[in-house]
Amino acid sequence: MAISIRGLTHRYRTSEGTLAVLDDVDLDVAAGGYTAVTGPSGAGKSTLLSVLGGLEPLQVGTVAVGDTDLAGLRGDDLAAYRRSTVGFVFQHFGLLEAMTAAENVELAGTLAGLRAGERQRRAADLLEAVGLADRADHRPLQLSGGERQRVAIARALANRPRLLLADEPTGNLDEASAISVIELLERLRTAHGCTLVVVTHNRALGARPPQSVALDRGRRVS
Ligand code: ADP
Repeated sequence: MAISIRGLTHRYRTSEGTLAVLDDVDLDVAAGGYTAVTGPSGAGKSTLLSVLGGLEPLQVGTVAVGDTDLAGLRGDDLAAYRRSTVGFVFQHFGLLEAMTAAENVELAGTLAGLRAGERQRRAADLLEAVGLADRADHRPLQLSGGERQRVAIARALANRPRLLLADEPTGNLDEASAISVIELLERLRTAHGCTLVVVTHNRALGARPPQSVALDRGRRVS
């Protein structure tokens, strides 16, 4: 799914006034492409990902993801876009601790509208794909950080997203787990034909994709 961003400008209202976070950012990613967004903390990387993934409504500029124009999408329409198109992976995993790995992945299938049998099958398939078939009944606290992130990646794929967005996916992992998680994302991108955008401030990870863009204080600097 191709991404085309033009003139993306974003501000947050805070108690101290308006904070300009993204300033006239352009970005193109080919369908099935793989891009890193790098830059120092506070550069606007997460905000860019949030607008692209429909977590944050588009304010100024144009963002097209495949045939979907995000301008004007709000509330339920934005939620429908997320459900049909986007899988998210976050630094802090975001798994529900009371649920097993399989239940966490199945829950995402429920939200995506899959029926019981199908979502159980899909959860089993996805846990197998991330190498955790034998840990399906484990709860997050029984898993290592790298394993938790693998479950979160399986969950992100439950709705068959064509756009996979990962925000510092290795930020909480040791180096060996970080490499294996990024390699997993890269493999799954190819296997599932997703477009993959990874936000990272890790230089080595930022250098892996064929395309890497850098933000600094809300502006694209490379
Ligand atoms: P990065 O991911 O590059 O660290 P962010 O996009 O998270 O950058 O944040 C950019 C700036 O916007 C920071 O100054 C941050 O404090 C601010 N910010 C992020 N989210 C919000 C929000 N919801 N409300 C107000 N300010 C925010």
